[in-house]
Amino acid sequence: MTRVLVVEDEPQIVRALEINLKARRYEVDTASDGATALRLAAARHPDVVVLDLGLPDMDGVEVIRGLRGWTRVPILVLSARHSSDEKVEALDAGADDYVTKPFGMDELLARLRAAVRRAEPTTAEAEEARVSTASFTVDLAAKKAVREGRDVRLTPTEWHLLEVLLRNAGKLVSQKQLLQEVWGPTYGTETNYLRVYMAQLRRKLEVDPAHPRHFITEAGMGYRFER
Ligand code: CA
Repeated sequence: MTRVLVVEDEPQIVRALEINLKARRYEVDTASDGATALRLAAARHPDVVVLDLGLPDMDGVEVIRGLRGWTRVPILVLSARHSSDEKVEALDAGADDYVTKPFGMDELLARLRAAVRRAEPTTAEAEEARVSTASFTVDLAAKKAVREGRDVRLTPTEWHLLEVLLRNAGKLVSQKQLLQEVWGPTYGTETNYLRVYMAQLRRKLEVDPAHPRHFITEAGMGYRFER
């Protein structure tokens, strides 16, 4: 279920949004000022925030900055102001989109769906990029590997090889496929390269490189990564 945080101090607008969102099976939290909004966002982890810029206690742009300090949650701004500077400032501060008041409910809901949709793959990709095993953790996006609490340095070729194996976790990746993906399409028989680089990966990431748990050799065929 998608959780929406509505930040708005005008009761009629809050009510209209609540009715329309709940009718479409969204979960709704509401805040009528910026301080409550920041507290609720931290407590409830909404999937999307609908934010009025004109709040009683602080400027909505301050709320955007507060949220962007720790979360990439999509923010859809409601702006009553006609000044385009205001919108530019909100977008620069990290808002994803805006709707000008008075707004049509259909347009707002469509923009909300679009903001949620755009955010989804990023979260999924980020999770996919992080792999943890009993021996080590790797973040492919951040290019960070940690074993026993210490950073492990990998060369670009080692990263590339690791990435291909991790993306095919649990599956046999043939020697030819690894060579072509990491070294290039003209490679395919240089299995000695693989032996050298796999030994390095094991030395850096396995607890006992002589008895690998994660980087398994399938003799004569290829390699397999096991979590
Ligand atoms: Ca307002």
